[in-house]
Order: sequence, then structure tokens, then C-alpha cells
Amino acid sequence: MDLKRSHSVKLNDGHFMPALGFGTFAPKPIQKNKAFEFTKVAIDAGFRHIDAAYLYENEEEVGAAIREKIADGTVKREDIFCTTKVWATFLRPELVRTSLEKSLKKLQLNYVDLFLIHIPIPMKPADDLLPQDAKGQIILETVDLRDTWEALEKCKDAGLTKSIGVSNFNHKQLELILNKPGLKYKPTCNQVECHFYLNQSKLLEYCKSKDIVLVAYSALGSGRDPFWIDQSSPYLLKDPTVNAIAKKINRTPGQVALRYLLQQGVVVLVKSFSEKRIKENFQIFEFELTAEDMKVIDCLDKNLRYFKFLFAVNHPNYPFSEEY
Ligand code: NDP
Repeated sequence: MDLKRSHSVKLNDGHFMPALGFGTFAPKPIQKNKAFEFTKVAIDAGFRHIDAAYLYENEEEVGAAIREKIADGTVKREDIFCTTKVWATFLRPELVRTSLEKSLKKLQLNYVDLFLIHIPIPMKPADDLLPQDAKGQIILETVDLRDTWEALEKCKDAGLTKSIGVSNFNHKQLELILNKPGLKYKPTCNQVECHFYLNQSKLLEYCKSKDIVLVAYSALGSGRDPFWIDQSSPYLLKDPTVNAIAKKINRTPGQVALRYLLQQGVVVLVKSFSEKRIKENFQIFEFELTAEDMKVIDCLDKNLRYFKFLFAVNHPNYPFSEEY
């Protein structure tokens, strides 16, 4: 099977992105060697799209796993679609390329397939990923995102990344980039939280109208990292309606949650550091949800966001004050 083209979407710059991606973010106490071990398992299971980021502090392990799978003949470099992201402390335009070069060095790759602005909220440049003032508040700053975007365009022109895009942008922030005078490349995608409790129907419609792919993160409700996530939020995969549909069609709730997004033309990321669940997650191309079940799941939307980034709620770029 040609895994490179099947189950892929074409981006607005002509490159192809596999419709299912392997997430590599894991909460802190999880050892980094798990990212190495399970990225290899994911590639063996058929995943060809790997979602990394400078912030996750495991690019060395993820890159080593990819290189090992290339060395043992499982894949070629061109079969893999590897993403990384410029973190908030590098959003000043003069720092963007430095960030990508650091990531490439850690990944030990010559290029990535996709380079994203991780969040639209700039933080003060610092060695710390979350620079704090004396009171423990994260130090934010202002950068014109259009200048950051131009720096990403230059990274593409320099051959350090095949495609460029954004993450956690609302539609107004996408519009800002799309309307930038002298825009050279449109964002290929917007990676945002998306699942059946936050189905992003308006943002998805907007993105489709602009030929921007919506990439879903936390499609299973996230790993509930206490640093980022309110622990009192409901468990997505315990939803009774989705459990009933899963039981009816002899699939797991996780598979139903992923398939629900895929069937709407959303590219889906999913993280698992368990061989059983990685294999299970790759089986979502084997079945379809009926139009009726899709409608039932649509009704579960309750605008519930796990990743709220509350530290930035008063920043003018805070993305989630907008409806979409
Ligand atoms: P996911 O929603 O993908 O869920 C991960 C959790 O679900 C894990 O704890 C995993 O545990 C569990 N899980 C995986 N498969 C199954 C299954 N079939 N049944 C039951 N449970 C399952 O969480 P993430 O928040 O990690 O999102 C995915 C990826 O998206 C990230 O890894 C990262 O790459 C990206 N991301 C991007 C963000 C951004 O700001 N751009 C923000 C957050 C994530 P276990 O490992 O034990 O299987």
C-alpha cells in the first residue's frame, strides 16, 4: 500500500499531509525515552505523520526514532511527514529561523515537512520555555504576527521546511495573515483543539473556505496534564453517547472519537504511548460512521476547551475570546 498518498490531504502549497498523525506531547513525569520507543511503534503500526514541537522537549528522541526507522528500512525520509513548531519565546521575526535550526539539530533532520507558529501569544525571549517575573507571572510581549509569518516564509524559501502553518489561531488571526500585504505563502493549516465536545464547526467551515486544513489536537480529550488542564473537566472518552455508538458498531470510544473528525475532512493527531492503543488508533480507516451517528455526535458539542492558556487571557492576542 502506498502509505504516502493514501489517506492524505493535499495542502494549498501542493504537498501532501497524512490524515492521521502521531502526537508526541507527554506530561512531564513521563520519561523521554517513551517518546523514542513509541514513535518507533507508531511508525511500525503505519503512522507516517509525526507531530513534534520545541516545547515538548523530546525532539531528540522523536528524531532518533524516525532516523532508526529509516536506517532499518521501514520507511524513507520522504515517507515521513514531520512537523515542529516555533515556541512563544521565539516569535520575534529575527528568532524564528534560530528556533527551527535548533529543532532540526535536535531532530537530526535536514528539513521538516511542516513548521507552525505554536501559539499566537508571544512571550519574552528567554532560555526558559515559560519566562516568569518575580511574582511568578509568565512574561508576555507584543510582536506583529505578520512579521513572524514573513520569517516562516523565509524558512520555507531556505528549504528548512516544506510547508508552513499556524496553531491555536482564531479566524481573525488567520484573516490577519491572509490579508497581509505582500503575502507570499498562505498558512497551509491551523492546528487547534478539536473533538466532539469542541467540534469547531465554524472554524472548520471558515478554514475550508480558505483552503486551510484544520488539524485536530487533543482529539481524545488530551492527556489531562495538570499543568495545563483543569482536572475537574469531564473525561471525553467516558461520554455515554459515544460509548453506546462504539458498542453498537463493535469499535472503541477512541476510534469513534477519531473517526468522527476524520470523516469531516479534519486531519487528526492522536498521542498514545501504548502499543495496543497505537494500533487501535490506526484502524480508523477500516470503518465508517453513518450519517445518523455523525449527527448524534454533532449534538454533543458543548464548546468545552481543555487547553485554555489562561495565563494569556488578558493579552490582546488571546485567541479564545473570539467565538471561533
Ligand atoms: P490526545 O487527545 O491525543 O489523547 C491522549 C490521551 O489519550 C493519552 O493520555 C493516551 O494515553 C490516551 N489514548 C490514546 N489512544 C487511546 C485510545 N484508543 N483509547 C483510550 N485512550 C487513548 O492528547 P494530546 O493532548 O496529546 O493531543 C495529541 C497531540 O496533539 C499531542 O501529542 C501534540 O502532538 C499535539 N498537541 C498540540 C497542541 C498545540 O497547542 N498545538 C496542544 C496539545 C496537543 P496513553 O498514552 O496511555 O495511550
